[in-house]
Amino acid sequence: MTISADLRTKVRAAIDGQLPSLLSLYKHFHAHPELSGQEVRTAARVAEELAAAGCEVSTGVGGHGAVGLLQNGTGPVLMLRADMDALPMQEQTGLPYASRETVTGPDGLTIPVMHACGHDLHTTNLIGTARVLSACREHWKGTLMLVAQPSEEAIGGARLMLQDGLFTRFPRPNWALALHVDPNLPAGTVSIGPGYMTMACQSLDVVIKGRPGHGAAPHLGVDPIVLACQFVMSLQTIVSRRTDPREVAVIHVGRVEGGISRNTIADEVTLELSLRAQGRDRLESLVEAVAETATGIAQSAGLEGDQMPTVLRAAVLTPSVNNDSELARVLTGVFRDWLGVERVKSSSTPMLGSEDFSRFGEVDPPLPLVLFFLGATDPTEFRNLRENPSKFPRLHTPTFSPAVEISLPTGLLGFCSASLALLHKG
Ligand code: ZN
Repeated sequence: MTISADLRTKVRAAIDGQLPSLLSLYKHFHAHPELSGQEVRTAARVAEELAAAGCEVSTGVGGHGAVGLLQNGTGPVLMLRADMDALPMQEQTGLPYASRETVTGPDGLTIPVMHACGHDLHTTNLIGTARVLSACREHWKGTLMLVAQPSEEAIGGARLMLQDGLFTRFPRPNWALALHVDPNLPAGTVSIGPGYMTMACQSLDVVIKGRPGHGAAPHLGVDPIVLACQFVMSLQTIVSRRTDPREVAVIHVGRVEGGISRNTIADEVTLELSLRAQGRDRLESLVEAVAETATGIAQSAGLEGDQMPTVLRAAVLTPSVNNDSELARVLTGVFRDWLGVERVKSSSTPMLGSEDFSRFGEVDPPLPLVLFFLGATDPTEFRNLRENPSKFPRLHTPTFSPAVEISLPTGLLGFCSASLALLHKG
């Protein structure tokens, strides 16, 4: 599809025209972050902005989710998704619009809140896209479905929105698209590719049991602390020896708790694990290997019956975002066309984190989706840091702030060009 010079000029002018007000909207969201499941004011503002851009808006979808429909005649439906929630963290960016927001936790303690993962930028980008696409309705047809999702950080918002009828109460999309800021890319660029973009993740609680007794008589008991130590060390070979070296997998033990006092043999040790792999099947193999390892260690200590370890899923599995290859191919072409070849990188390895955007694709029948990454580090800073990757700004840290004046118009061009290409006229 060739884009007319007229359309290009029009879209760029619309983005430039909206930018000052979108930057102040971004600063508003940044200064007023809300934690997962508490996105009340953010969602209200999103709803107000989407309505002002001409959308038919529904609120309270799967918690604080908001859905805006920009209907423009018959044609396909494209879902664009942004996440709205922030993190419990004290901002240290020193920005004039830094967050001073706090909430009171269940224990009465004050919790600072910060947008340290760029969801404020994602949300602003969603609203900006609605405004631009609304302003050039004569160039596309179909429905743009703008989804502002709550609780991404807590991994659950996407599922709640689906359970609340996102694809039954509203038109079922033909495709879904999302972006995420990436400080490992210079602002002004995007990165896109086919296949796994994020890891599938499963949290496990493992309880290693023993036979309690006096510390002075180890031969009369079975010490679960020793077994737990063996278990942690044995887990290391699951990735190094049982996983294809060409694949990415992580087994992490984040918490170990057990024991009563110096001179007793504990009755059990609890370990909290997180497992990550590319795709559901590989992740399930890791879960199995962890359970086998725990069982094997208990058996070797002579334990049996109800003394065997238990392995429980501590949360629902988060699938991998698996970019549809055909959609990724089409959008790569669109982005190259609109942004220039040099500003479009190809993603080859998945990021190690998880994203519940994956859930929107795992419906029946599956929905083709693409998650692409939006460069977030100022290009000059990026060049200076190149030699020193450990100094790169990171997501989920108190000093993270994207180079919004460059990243936002790039993200808008990404979402707008993708929408115009997929919902093209004729
Ligand atoms: Zn995020």
